[in-house]
Amino acid sequence: MKISPALLDEIVRHAIEEAPNECCGVVGARAGDPLQAAVVYRATNTAASPLRFEIDALEVLELNNKLEGEELCVGAIYHSHTRTAPYPSQTDINFAAHWPGVEWLIVGLGGDKTEVRSYLIEAGRVTEVALDEGAP
Ligand SMILES: [Zn+2]
Repeated sequence: MKISPALLDEIVRHAIEEAPNECCGVVGARAGDPLQAAVVYRATNTAASPLRFEIDALEVLELNNKLEGEELCVGAIYHSHTRTAPYPSQTDINFAAHWPGVEWLIVGLGGDKTEVRSYLIEAGRVTEVALDEGAP
């Protein structure tokens, strides 16, 4: 998807604030090819864990309704890996089965510098997709 440096920065700030626990949230996007990221909404990692994240189903529903009200869709679900590389874990791959077509954006805080990568995960197959820094 296309995402502005300001929105990427919001996601990275969230990851740094939640560390050492994983953060999570959604990126609302305008339909199109590629999707254009429009807003970032934080969610609560109810697992409050450095190893995994969980979002309450009700919160997902509320965020989804909020985005629909703004004529946006869930473009990506983001979370952080505070110790490991920004590559989907097996848990992520399993969870992604519930969200077909949604990009999987991961902030990696484990390396020398912060890395943000995005993936499509379909039928258990992980494909990295470009994050184009476009205007909001
Ligand atoms: Zn993960």
